[in-house]
Amino acid sequence: MNKTKQIVQNSLDALMKDDTFIPELTGETRAQAFTSLASILSTPNHVHKSFLRIPLENGQVVRIPAYRVQHNNALGPYKGGIRFHETVNEDEVINLASLMTLKNALHDVPFGGGKGGLVINPRTLSEKELHLICKKYVRYFSDSLGPDKDIPAPDVGSGEREMDWMMAEYKSIRPGTPYRGSFTGKSVVNGGSLGRREATGKGVYFTFRYLFHDFLQNQKSLLTKTDNSYAKTVAEFENKPMKLAIQGFGNVGSIAALEAYQCTFLQNKVVAVSDRNVTLYNEDGLNIPSLVKYTKDNKGDLPVSAEELAVAGVKADVLNREDILYLNVDSLILAALEDQIRTDNMEKIKAPIIVEGANAPVTKDADEYLSQKGVIIIPDILANAGGVIVSYLEWLQGRETQFYSEEEVFSQLFKKMKGTLDSILPVFFGDSFTLRQNCYIQSVTRLSTVLYRQGKLY
Ligand code: GLU
Repeated sequence: MNKTKQIVQNSLDALMKDDTFIPELTGETRAQAFTSLASILSTPNHVHKSFLRIPLENGQVVRIPAYRVQHNNALGPYKGGIRFHETVNEDEVINLASLMTLKNALHDVPFGGGKGGLVINPRTLSEKELHLICKKYVRYFSDSLGPDKDIPAPDVGSGEREMDWMMAEYKSIRPGTPYRGSFTGKSVVNGGSLGRREATGKGVYFTFRYLFHDFLQNQKSLLTKTDNSYAKTVAEFENKPMKLAIQGFGNVGSIAALEAYQCTFLQNKVVAVSDRNVTLYNEDGLNIPSLVKYTKDNKGDLPVSAEELAVAGVKADVLNREDILYLNVDSLILAALEDQIRTDNMEKIKAPIIVEGANAPVTKDADEYLSQKGVIIIPDILANAGGVIVSYLEWLQGRETQFYSEEEVFSQLFKKMKGTLDSILPVFFGDSFTLRQNCYIQSVTRLSTVLYRQGKLY
């Protein structure tokens, strides 16, 4: 059983014993309803797979495996990104789609969960080839997609350009539909939302800041009243300078780094950042704005040598890219890919706080090991929901053709995330579950209640 399925099952076990949860379900009927819930939540509704036929510019024809998984739509149309990466596979897309169901349920976003994937390395393809791949993806899956059915968005390896191409293709295949709502994460000129690009990274940093600043300031008494070991860890950081390391310097990591650098609520020092090539380390803190500028001018890559650091105007030691994980820091923000902390490297982790900016960066065994050691892991479905929350705002704006200012978008984003954090954190510090387990319990409660009321459990 993978981590997602296991924690969903644990959440159901906890709810089964909680007699305030759907109290009218008792005895044998209750047991049956929970068995139904377990099978509904652990299985995707649909797994679509195609092999796209793509003529490359060199004249060769290749078949590209493409997926769209629709996990669950009890709360609204399926929603989730399309990953462009050579390691994409069916199990991974199914797992990521189920995480989207849980993420949307947790934050009360009226969408279900879906995910797509293309087994390609976009860096090795020309713009023309990528354009064709995007158009074919929409053509092959067009019957399953749509603004009220299934709404894709960017994920690892895809962005505004790809969403613009896909929306344009959808518009020509389905003339007359409210096409702006068929894809989110589009460019602003094409009906995208201001702030969508920064939303995930801003949300990731916001959850971290909220826990160590806003929550600590307003609800500190909750931390001192309990003997919960996680509460003690948080309380120890009150007004203390914090050293941060951020793995991944793409759309999520670079924005989270910038937010941390500019934050006036906490005394942060971003001492390390990394990408697919290097880790850069400076114990006095890195100049993040200069690094952001450098990556913009250099196809997204961080400087890797003394010469390149001089061009960037940044002082740092150059380490191996995995070194970022093992540094002596207070918080490690994981904003690269999944499975970064595993059984083979979990014992080397020193950070007492981990924030999951990426989806599933900590494996099941590593999650159990670190949580038992008292490490606070702010889980993916809580921390990285900023993207899908602003996708929802983009979808709404596209429907109304009324567009919000950037200020309005961020204020709605933070309001939504604050609402979730306010409902989860007091429970987390008062019970014996991890933050991830508490988030799953909240998501599963919402999904289960809706499924029960829709008459789907018998
Ligand atoms: N790919 C992002 C995620 O994993 C965003 C999904 C969306 O906006 O639909 O949450």
